[in-house]
Amino acid sequence: MTDRYAVIGNPIGHSKSPLIHTMFAEATGQDMTYDRIEAAPGDFAAVAGAFREGGGKGLNVTAPFKLDAFAMATKLSDAARLAGAVNALWFDGDEICGENFDGKGLVRDIVHNLQRPIAGSRVLLLGAGGAARGALLPIVAEGPASLVIANRSVARAEAMASALPASAPVRVGGYDAIGAAPFDIVINATSASLTGELPPLSGLEFAPATLAYELAYGKGLTPFLKLARGGGVVRIADGVGMLVEQAAEAFQWWRGIRPATEAAIARITVPLV
Ligand code: NDP
Repeated sequence: MTDRYAVIGNPIGHSKSPLIHTMFAEATGQDMTYDRIEAAPGDFAAVAGAFREGGGKGLNVTAPFKLDAFAMATKLSDAARLAGAVNALWFDGDEICGENFDGKGLVRDIVHNLQRPIAGSRVLLLGAGGAARGALLPIVAEGPASLVIANRSVARAEAMASALPASAPVRVGGYDAIGAAPFDIVINATSASLTGELPPLSGLEFAPATLAYELAYGKGLTPFLKLARGGGVVRIADGVGMLVEQAAEAFQWWRGIRPATEAAIARITVPLV
């Protein structure tokens, strides 16, 4: 019987996940379908539960349901527990397994696709929301020389960083405390770009060799990427690669085979102009 998967969120019409997973399934010869499901706020458990009861094998979970998926899971991975959020569910017999592949996808895109090692690098992470929380441990696991975390709500960033071992080379503060020292990698994990806004980064110095990475995707040249480019940065990237790489992780988790990601990245990339 053909296995069924889907992405669930609200809104969901814009999601690229059905396209990505259909490409993966065709390339790897997997007998599966992948749909999109829009659930009303408050209806996540009922809708995801019905999908499972109907024989569904797994779900990707996007905004605003990552916390609901966390609550629904009966078995959580370390990454999901540390992120406090779930972006993939696997209905494995009686268990509802919860994972979070966002951070792994981000790191894979930076290190493997963009060829920028995090190990030994000076990294600046902007934001302390769900995506930043998911990214934190995978970034630290790579062994950066230093990691500065800046967020509007400093208390939120401090709470996030408290999950790290004391030995992690991390400094946390507001935007005014970032300092002028250049960073090798600057990651915008705020949602400011979704509303055409920019975190207050007026004092930030970019170096030409800095990688400026925007988690939002499909938005072209966001205010953050524009700022970086104006600051002389040569290499800018948005979150398309992260999206495809986290999808590949979920696909591998469900199907036991890791698809190549280049074709899907090329298919959904929007020029950064
Ligand atoms: P959350 O709502 O959980 O967190 C929002 C974060 O943005 C908080 O740190 C918030 O600060 C900060 N923020 C919002 N507006 C501003 C602003 N104007 N100035 C400064 N800081 C601001 O969002 P997520 O973590 O879920 O998503 C963050 C981004 O990551 C989004 O752009 C999303 O599209 C993208 N994303 C991309 C993925 C991919 O696969 N490429 C996967 C997941 C997310 P404060 O805490 O002070 O309110």
